Amino acid sequence: MHAGSPKSPGRTKNGLGLETDDWMDISVPISDGMVTWPGDPPVRILRLTDIEDGDDCTLSALSMSVHTATHMDAPSHFTSLRHGIDKMPLSAVVGNARVIEIDDPVSITAGELRGHKIKKGERILLKTRNSRERWDRKPFDESYVFLSTEAALYLVDRDVLTIGVDYLSIGGYGGNMAEVHKIILSAKIWVIEGLDLSRTGPGLYEMVCLPIKIDNCDGAPARALLRPV
Ligand SMILES: [Zn+2]
Repeated sequence: MHAGSPKSPGRTKNGLGLETDDWMDISVPISDGMVTWPGDPPVRILRLTDIEDGDDCTLSALSMSVHTATHMDAPSHFTSLRHGIDKMPLSAVVGNARVIEIDDPVSITAGELRGHKIKKGERILLKTRNSRERWDRKPFDESYVFLSTEAALYLVDRDVLTIGVDYLSIGGYGGNMAEVHKIILSAKIWVIEGLDLSRTGPGLYEMVCLPIKIDNCDGAPARALLRPV
């Protein structure tokens, strides 16, 4: 529901031709054997019982890293801060978020971010070349677009609340992966990784992204939704 909107929800159209009550799901599905960070345990969805096999019910078990598919990182992932994902303030993931489209095909640079006049307390989702196709349906891509160290420092300086990226890590593979995580997570910026922004244009949205509440955990899988404001 949009506060102050004179029209009934579900019937108004915005510039994108979407009904304003329509949420876009920007999370990727968790599927057996899907791409993971190299070295992470494989995703296994085990069907324990199945009605089609004559069992009383269908029941599955799931085995995977908490940093699989669309997920969030807690500060405790790469720092000695004891903030687990269960301590995340809901304000980090419920409210307006801005999708910024990144042109650089290699990395997200501070120079490119500067042009977007990012303000304190913003929730920023970075759409890169990674979103050109559905990355979750492909093998691991070592050359995904990542956050440069300078860009990470810039986002800390801007004092953003939350950052979302469209691949499995904010940092680069075999490069600044740990460094960027430490910079961002030490500043208690909340991180969403593994978004699917392939159908999402740049602009301002309302966001809901809810990581599963796992006690004292370094991360958690999440469902992320956007709708235009
Ligand atoms: Zn991460």
